[in-house]
Amino acid sequence: MKKSKPVIASERSYTIEKEKFVPVSEYYGEDTFNYKVMKEKLPKDAYKKIMEAINEDKILDLATADIVAHAIKEWALEKGATHFAHWFQPMTGATAEKHDAFVEPTAVGEVMEKFSGKQLVQGEPDASSFPSGGIRATFEARGYTAWDISSPAFIRRNGISTTLCIPTVFISYTGEALDKKTPLLRSNRAVSNSAVNMLKLLGAKNVKKVHATLGPEQEYFLIDMDYFFKRQDLVLGGRTIVGAPPAKGQELEDQYFGSIKERISSYMHDMEEELFKLGVPAKTRHNEVAPSQFEIAPVFEEANLAVDHNQIVMDTMKSVAKKHNLACLLHEKPFAKINGSGKHVNWSLADNNGNNLLNPGRTPHENITFLVFLIAVVRAVYKNADILRASVATYANDHRLGANEAPPAIISVFLGDQLTDILTSIEKGTVAKATNAEIIDLDISSLPLLSKDNTDRNRTSPFAFTGNKFEFRAVGSSQSISFPGTVLNTIVAESLDCLAEKIKAKNTKNINQAVFEVLKSEIKEIKPVLFNGDNYTKEWELEAAKRGLPNYKTTPVALKALATVKAIDLFEKYKVLSKVELQSRYVIYLEKYIKDLEIEVKCLSNICLSQIIPAAVVYQKILAKTIISTREALGSAATVSAQTEILKKLVDGINNIYNLNKDILAKVEVANAIHDEAKKADTLCSKVKPKMDELRENVDELENLIDDELWPLPKFWEMLFIS
Ligand code: ADP
Ligand code: MG
Repeated sequence: MKKSKPVIASERSYTIEKEKFVPVSEYYGEDTFNYKVMKEKLPKDAYKKIMEAINEDKILDLATADIVAHAIKEWALEKGATHFAHWFQPMTGATAEKHDAFVEPTAVGEVMEKFSGKQLVQGEPDASSFPSGGIRATFEARGYTAWDISSPAFIRRNGISTTLCIPTVFISYTGEALDKKTPLLRSNRAVSNSAVNMLKLLGAKNVKKVHATLGPEQEYFLIDMDYFFKRQDLVLGGRTIVGAPPAKGQELEDQYFGSIKERISSYMHDMEEELFKLGVPAKTRHNEVAPSQFEIAPVFEEANLAVDHNQIVMDTMKSVAKKHNLACLLHEKPFAKINGSGKHVNWSLADNNGNNLLNPGRTPHENITFLVFLIAVVRAVYKNADILRASVATYANDHRLGANEAPPAIISVFLGDQLTDILTSIEKGTVAKATNAEIIDLDISSLPLLSKDNTDRNRTSPFAFTGNKFEFRAVGSSQSISFPGTVLNTIVAESLDCLAEKIKAKNTKNINQAVFEVLKSEIKEIKPVLFNGDNYTKEWELEAAKRGLPNYKTTPVALKALATVKAIDLFEKYKVLSKVELQSRYVIYLEKYIKDLEIEVKCLSNICLSQIIPAAVVYQKILAKTIISTREALGSAATVSAQTEILKKLVDGINNIYNLNKDILAKVEVANAIHDEAKKADTLCSKVKPKMDELRENVDELENLIDDELWPLPKFWEMLFIS
């Protein structure tokens, strides 16, 4: 059994032909039906109506929809599109699309390209094969997609096929959200209402709307496609479920921000070109901490757009990688004992005049607004740390959160020393005498400008204030950022409303005085969630427990937060998710956990029985024969102790692997008899997962023992260092 070595990168040519340099600004967004194109292609009246619909949440009439549909179709045909698709985000976490050709038969043997307003506005895909968590009885297979006019239609090119994609929501026949976009849009409305009310209370004028902004920093690995296809664990589950760590990992710290290899640079360039055409502001790129790990961080955008764009980014990353014979791994932990990938989600609120509400600002008024919004967010996180934790709970993310790698599963907030001091003085009453003219009776008349350097030193916090935004760092690299965004918007809406009520209840004309009295008591209550130290330490875990902060290390435990009365009330109050919709999500997330784990079990079993054990047996035979033949040749006193020792380890290893695998399969069978999803997930997590880890250790020991030529899987050092 000879291992065929993959053809390595240096033996191939990846030069991408560039005809001539075209500045990005000349083609940015050319594959999107954006405002500029709309203005150009639509009659004035239709353009006005669609802008009103977008900006003022007005309903678009069907006659205008027909005009828009015609214009989109003409534009898409010019781009080479043959089909259109409602592009939506079912609960799988990926995107879905069903393509229909523009052609309509006219006479026998003849067709013409057609696209009506009705086809633009609404679709009816069969919903029965998407996760619904029990919402939709099987006989009611109908689902509707409805055009989300706030996100521009775009052209997707795939090989020689070109399709017009129309972003849509996906709802059931009875109006329940079956997707990730609908709740996000609802949460945007909720946080906008609450923030506008708060701003008005604080005396702001001319504020009509507030929107959440999201900026995801996407981490990923790239490995040679040849290695990828030689590992079924990577192909089927996205991560290596066995594999010994390489002699060199990330300890030399020579990868982060290091110079980017040529092949990778070419990939990034190609990928970004695609993203620029789709109007994704792909701004920053760099090497990440682990070998073969990288990051792309687009400029932040309005939440709904940022979510759509992140889905497009993930798809584009994977498809462009194939052209370079690379595999793009978005999994949270593709390689054990090597840093995993997260997706820091930067979040803030901005009003319709472009002001970032988490910007400390320069004037006393801006400072008060800032402090109110800052404390509202901290309060939201303190009160709903469990729900926030649940929003990032997946089987894959368990390898990072609460495991040996940060951020931990304890959701705390980092504010930095400067802001913490300010909060402490508010709490102590130093600022109790604040007047309308002056903000804080410290030595300063306004807050010092918080430069990023002052706030961004702590990289271990799951939720950090970084100058003018919060950074939620517990989000997994492969997950949609929609639900974390939805949760943030909703909990902050509730927090703002609560603070507003308390401020109003003070019943005083001196609004600043009322604000500071409320903030003072709030800070007292919520300060246990503040932590500026090292979140990775054992001491913090103990301290957090003393403070009563939840520490839900695994997904089955973390998800329970979605089944609480608190969560149901919260999402219902803000009309983000009905009780049924939330319950269905709880079930879907549990089912996903169970399926992910079971796929890995089957994969692990197959790798052990059909790859690892056979390879080990071949080596066992070689060693046994060697021992016998050496003794035959040199007499029974010949020294074969090394071979004997290896042989013994090998035999033990094979037995352990075989027995552990049998044990795991038996335990899965026991779990499968449980019909309650929550209990089943608990059982798999507590009984099966540790055994899988134990089995892995045995396999990894054999990897370091067996003849390299016989080892059936690409090793970490090959995958991580050859490209
Ligand atoms: P890092 O966290 O790596 O130090 P940066 O501070 O440059 O990186 O920003 C990270 C991300 O935060 C970027 O994607 C950026 O667009 C985003 N960001 C900046 N301001 C905001 C904001 N007001 N709202 C949401 N995201 C923001
Ligand atoms: Mg960051």
